Amino acid sequence: MVVGHGIAGFTAARILADSGAAVTVVTEETRTYYYRPRLPDFIAGRADEAELVAFPDQWYAEKGIHILLGHRVDRVEPRATRVVLDSGETLPYDRLLLATGGTPFLPPIEGLKAPGVMTVRTLEDARRIKEMAKAKTPTVVLGGGLLGLEIAAALAARGASTTVLESSDRLLGRQLDKGAADILLARVRQMGLEVWTGVDVERVVTGGGTEGGVTGAHLAEGRTVKGNLILVTAGVRPNLDLARAAGLSVNRGVVVDGFLRTSDERIFAAGDCAEWEGQTWGTIPAAVEQARVAAAAMMGKVRVPYTGTIPSNSLKIAGMDLTSLGDPEAEPGPEELIESDADRGVYKKLMLRDGRLAGAIWLGDKMPAAVSKALGKEMAWDEAEKLVGRKKRGLAEPSSGGHATPRFLSDQ
Ligand SMILES: Cc1cc2nc3c(=O)[nH]c(=O)nc-3n(C[C@H](O)[C@H](O)[C@H](O)COP(=O)(O)OP(=O)(O)OC[C@H]3O[C@@H](n4cnc5c(N)ncnc54)[C@H](O)[C@@H]3O)c2cc1C
Repeated sequence: MVVGHGIAGFTAARILADSGAAVTVVTEETRTYYYRPRLPDFIAGRADEAELVAFPDQWYAEKGIHILLGHRVDRVEPRATRVVLDSGETLPYDRLLLATGGTPFLPPIEGLKAPGVMTVRTLEDARRIKEMAKAKTPTVVLGGGLLGLEIAAALAARGASTTVLESSDRLLGRQLDKGAADILLARVRQMGLEVWTGVDVERVVTGGGTEGGVTGAHLAEGRTVKGNLILVTAGVRPNLDLARAAGLSVNRGVVVDGFLRTSDERIFAAGDCAEWEGQTWGTIPAAVEQARVAAAAMMGKVRVPYTGTIPSNSLKIAGMDLTSLGDPEAEPGPEELIESDADRGVYKKLMLRDGRLAGAIWLGDKMPAAVSKALGKEMAWDEAEKLVGRKKRGLAEPSSGGHATPRFLSDQ
């Protein structure tokens, strides 16, 4: 049995079904698996609902996957090896995968419970935001991470006046270094997005309309940014309630071993809800890799345990190429090679560690496949120079011990 039908639950259910296992999936959402990364396109009007959904209902029937849509698992009872649904119905399991994902984080800012404050995680959220965007509702986006920028661009495409507020002094603080972030900020502003960095939101201002909806975000410096929709994109927290109540070991996520097994040998966890070696990911590549290992382990067939996922992120805004790879902040510090052209809005950076490619940032140009393929592999300095397009050698020697650069999304 699989609880949750995001990318982790979907991937595992598919593998289990293809191997002949009887699979039941329980999901509180009312649609079968859909692509969350396309929600901004849906809001912008570039994709309709049917395009987001991966497979028709018939596909599930053909695969023999029994899917219960619109049902919540309220309780897991490990001793009885069964789950209890919100309807009160109980379902037995032989092996159980928790793929319950995460919930958007609401920072401790006054007024975030007011009507008109929303987060974006599900299709249902996106439907409501889309209606408000169509009505050109002035919007304030709290958070200048990947999601915040993509949503802001989608709203702007609808003609809704949109302001992004980021408390740190730069955008994509987890993915970019200062040089790349400065160029990105200039580019998104050129594209017409209103983006403010280094601003602290003190409270959400309410009292507008008959329902007392929001009217803006008040900044610590005294100004108020007007908006009747406040969208919070401040990262995601793993959904742990089921696991905790079932007595499983939880920390920041549901604690799993290399076989994605929780502290109960019949229960597994994968995706945004899982924590492996003290780390949670919050990304699709990690959810897919974990789900594959979990499905194999559930069938007792796993050969190679999970060993972590190399971070990889792209910003999906039309006309804007940005990809960041790797974990360049890990110790020891990397050797860095940077080619930057602020006028053209281009920034390319390769980070080598012990002669291997440890990370890369590519802004304003498509990252060549050769870069992503080389991640983790040996790379000569000459080759790195060629990839970033450096004409002459010796413009900069490898620095010792690089500086703070990208990290990853779960706390955007
Ligand atoms: C708009 C948007 C764009 C994104 N773009 C990218 C991107 O480009 N690249 C990237 O790597 N990541 C991206 N992400 C993050 C990515 O979507 C997540 O990392 C991924 O969805 C995690 O998959 P998951 O299956 O672990 O969890 P989820 O996708 O969160 O799915 C968990 C599911 O479990 C259900 N559930 C939870 N509890 C229960 C319960 N008790 N009973 C029944 N069902 C339950 C939830 O309703 C949910 O449907 C994006 C996220 C959003 C919102």
